[in-house]
Amino acid sequence: MAEGTNPGPPVADSIDGANDGHMRIVLAASFLLATVLPAQGPRPVPPCPRPPAGYQAELWQRAWALHHRAIVVDTHIDTTTRILDHGFDMGPRASDGHVDLQRAAEGGLDAVFYSIYVDSRFFGDEGALFATPPSSINDDWPRPRDAGAANGSARRALDMIDGLVRTVERHSDRMVLCASTATLTGAVGAGRHAALMGIEGGHAIEGDLGLLRQFHRLGVRYMTLTHTNHNEFADSCAPAEPRWGGLNRLGEKVVREMNRLGIMVDVSHVSDATFADVLQVSTAPVICSHSSLRSICPHPRNITDDMLRALAEQGGVVMINYNCGFLDAEYGKRSSARAATRRIQEKSARDTFAADSPELRQALANLDERFPPVERPPLQVLIAHLLRAIEIAGPDHVGLGSDFDGVPCVPAGIDDATFLPRLTYELLAAGQPDATVEKVLGQNLLRVFGAVERRSAELRGTAPECNDPTTDRLPRPQ
Ligand SMILES: [Zn+2]
Repeated sequence: MAEGTNPGPPVADSIDGANDGHMRIVLAASFLLATVLPAQGPRPVPPCPRPPAGYQAELWQRAWALHHRAIVVDTHIDTTTRILDHGFDMGPRASDGHVDLQRAAEGGLDAVFYSIYVDSRFFGDEGALFATPPSSINDDWPRPRDAGAANGSARRALDMIDGLVRTVERHSDRMVLCASTATLTGAVGAGRHAALMGIEGGHAIEGDLGLLRQFHRLGVRYMTLTHTNHNEFADSCAPAEPRWGGLNRLGEKVVREMNRLGIMVDVSHVSDATFADVLQVSTAPVICSHSSLRSICPHPRNITDDMLRALAEQGGVVMINYNCGFLDAEYGKRSSARAATRRIQEKSARDTFAADSPELRQALANLDERFPPVERPPLQVLIAHLLRAIEIAGPDHVGLGSDFDGVPCVPAGIDDATFLPRLTYELLAAGQPDATVEKVLGQNLLRVFGAVERRSAELRGTAPECNDPTTDRLPRPQ
C-alpha cells in the first residue's frame, strides 16, 4: 500500500495468511488501492450555470468557483448497497437515487467514503432471519437477543467491498480507490473521483480483532462502532436497554487497535455512554460520520451540544447528516405517524393477498395513494444544523456526511449530489468566511484523517491487540 502508515505486514503476507474464499477480494482491493497520483496544477472550474431561483447572481458565481476549487468530501454515502443488492452502475447518469459518477462530478463531490454497511439483521444467532427477509416491513423484524453465533456480518462486509471494488475496476478511468489522505488528494488533483471505505456497524468484525486488521488491509479507513444493534463490544443508541453500558473491555481494545492501524473511530449510531467511553480511550481524534444536532432535532442519533464540544476539544469532527428525520423534529413525527399507520395496513394487505398477486399490487398502490409522503423540509433546516455546529464547535470541527442513497428523505433543495454548490452558497450567504466553508466542505475531515494517520505512525511497532475470551466481555475498568 502506498499510504505509508500501515503498521501491519505487507499485503502479500496477509494474502498468504488468508484461509477462506475471499482472497480474490483481498487481491483486487490491494492492487486497486491508489498510489499517489501526480497533481495536475490548479483545478479547472466548470462553467457556472444560471443561479437557482432567488439566488443572488454575483454570490452564486463566487460560491460556484469556491465550491469547485475546494476538495469536497462526504463521509457517508450508501450507494454501495444499491451496487451490491440491485446491480447499480455508477457510470451513467441515473434518474433515481442521489449519487452516480456524473452527478458527483457536476456537484463537485470529489471524495466519498462509501459505506460498507452491514445491516443489524446479519448479526446474531437467529439464522432463520436470513431465510425470510420481508420485502418492506423492516421494523417488524425480530432482533436477535444474543450476540455471537451464526453471524453473517463479516461476509456481508466483504461482499459490500467487492461491489465497490468491481465498480472502481469498471470505471478506473474516472474513479480511484483510496486509503490515505495522500492518495485522496492526489486522485482529486488528477481530476478523478476518490472512493474510500468506511464500515458501518462494528458487528462486521464479529468481535474479532484479526478481522478488524483484515478490513484495514483491504483499505477500510473508518468504522462506525455500532449500527442499530448492540454488538460484542459496544452499545448502540437504538435499543432502549443498554447491554454493556458503553464499551466493554473488547471495545476498549477495538478502539486502541483502530488507533494503531489508522482507522478513524466513528461514533455515529453509538449510545451516549459509548460516545463518552470512546473519547476517554481513543488517543486520536474521532469522527461522527453522519449525525446531526440534538439541540435542533431531539433524536438519539444526533449529538448534544456538550457531546459536540467534547468531540471538538479532542480534535474531532461531526459530519452533518441530511436525513429529514434527523434534521426536523416535526417532519420526524409526521412521517413516523404515517409509517406506523401505513405499516399496519400493509401487513393486513400482505396477510390477505398472495405474494406477487395482482390483488396485492393493487392494494399496495392504493396505500401509496392514501398515504402520500410527508412534505420535505427545506434546505434551510440543514443549513441551520451546519451553522449551529460551527457556532458551538468552531469552524474546525464540522463537515458533510449526507447519508445519500441511505435515507428515504433529504431536504428540498439538496435533492442529489448535483445540488451541493447550493450548500456553499447558503453558507456564504449566512456570512461564513471562505476559509470556514472550505473547511466544512472537506478540509476538516482531511485534517482529522491526517491526524489519525500520524497517530498510527507513532504507534508503529507497538504490539497488536489480541482477543481474550476470558476477559473480553467484562466491563471496562473505570
Ligand atoms: Zn447510519
